[in-house]
Amino acid sequence: MPKITIDQLRQQVGGAVITPEDSDYDEARAVYNAMIDRRPSVVVRAQDSADVAAAVDYARENRLPFATRGGGHSVPGFGTIDDGVVADLSGMRAVSVDPGRRVARAQGGATWGDFNDATHEHSLATTGGIVSTTGVAGLTLGGGIGYLTRGHGLACDNLVGAEVVTADGLTVRASADENADLLWALKGGSGNFGVVTALDFQVHPLSEIYGGPMFFELEHARDLLEWYRDFIVDAPEQFGGFPAFQIAPPLPFIPEDRVGDTFIVFVACWAGPLAEGEAIVNRIKAVAPVVAEHVGPMPYPALNGAFDGLVPAGLQHYWKANFVRELTDDAIDAHLEHGPRVPAVNSTVHIYPINGAAQRVGADEAAFGHRDATFAPVIAGMWPDPAHNEANIKWVKDYYAATAPHSEEGGYVNFAASDDQDRVRANYGVNYDRLVAVKRSYDPDNLFRHNQNIKP
Ligand SMILES: Cc1cc2nc3c(=O)[nH]c(=O)nc-3n(C[C@H](O)[C@H](O)[C@H](O)COP(=O)(O)OP(=O)(O)OC[C@H]3O[C@@H](n4cnc5c(N)ncnc54)[C@H](O)[C@@H]3O)c2cc1C
Repeated sequence: MPKITIDQLRQQVGGAVITPEDSDYDEARAVYNAMIDRRPSVVVRAQDSADVAAAVDYARENRLPFATRGGGHSVPGFGTIDDGVVADLSGMRAVSVDPGRRVARAQGGATWGDFNDATHEHSLATTGGIVSTTGVAGLTLGGGIGYLTRGHGLACDNLVGAEVVTADGLTVRASADENADLLWALKGGSGNFGVVTALDFQVHPLSEIYGGPMFFELEHARDLLEWYRDFIVDAPEQFGGFPAFQIAPPLPFIPEDRVGDTFIVFVACWAGPLAEGEAIVNRIKAVAPVVAEHVGPMPYPALNGAFDGLVPAGLQHYWKANFVRELTDDAIDAHLEHGPRVPAVNSTVHIYPINGAAQRVGADEAAFGHRDATFAPVIAGMWPDPAHNEANIKWVKDYYAATAPHSEEGGYVNFAASDDQDRVRANYGVNYDRLVAVKRSYDPDNLFRHNQNIKP
């Protein structure tokens, strides 16, 4: 007999409890990566921490596997699970801002679009992802790379507190004063320690940025990558942005006869005084002639949503990543060989900078320990048609194999693939053993194991 029955669960939970018999089951089990096709035994659409706790208790007592879903963007599909319980937090998306204390609180299912819109009303912002539909929780718990990383650190570096439902179904607070070891672990240790129902962030004055994408001919790719490697070392920290290999989508600012051609793109974000933005961006334009651009002053949330159209839900995804200390000539050669072969308009390679403020945090100050890396490149394979899976996965794997010898052993957990579990120790890096110790005290039976898993 189940220790807690599904009927009891339904009575306890304020939100919907969806099982395979329900008409909305297929919608409830789907995640962003359409390659993932799993059949949970129940999806709990939580409305508050008590609903989350009920889902955790139900899974634990009935010895069922458990998955947490925030924004649902996990490429390996960690937000859904076969024959287990999914706590879906997508109904918990409120964001509140305390402008006086410069703190913003996001519920565990909020997206960066929700967050940026709320903080922008107060001309405040913090480091978040570059696509508005990505979840605040999943992105932050793995580290959190975005346009503001060089100025304000990773998203997790701005996390000052959290509310967490732990494996025993209790709701606890994590902050510098309460359960400080838990807060430390949440800053890069991913979803291993509980279900985070609220996250408190330090936010910073910012309203408009100057920037946007610039498209350059591939023949200038080497010059641009070499320029970027040198410039980013001591560029002003208000400068964020990255080079990318990209097929031109049909956008109004792309000449019609160039749609479908492959370019090297530079996406710039200047978060300093607007009057200085043009001069900074002109330094990039001085490297090579620009074919097409959409650059200028814009609200910070606008840049964070600029690529949403390229990455709708329902694509096939396969990604890989490594951290990089130095973009050597050999590494650039590998990028020049594989980047121009990007096979789909949705796919891309971004070489994110993670120096500046992110490197000033000590390697043991937060679970995210890769503080000696300057770059976090991601090879993001995204394409619509499952018939093309083999060719697209091969592109990602070949590209990865070529760049791996010029990279750190570990990569960013949030960009890791489903077949990266054997790299978990390297991916969490220098803090792995301490993460295991925190895991043992908060989740000794590894209920939260459907993630880049830290085994207790
Ligand atoms: C289109 C796209 C753009 C991206 N852009 C960026 C970017 O700019 N910068 C960057 O750093 N990363 C980026 N990522 C990677 C992203 O950080 C990860 O995919 C992240 O895991 C997504 O979080 P989520 O909440 O949306 O996903 P989910 O699939 O819901 O969750 C991902 C992981 O986090 C855990 N988790 C989620 N919510 C909670 C919670 N409330 N409590 C506890 N655990 C939770 C889940 O269990 C799972 O293990 C991007 C991904 C995609 C697909």
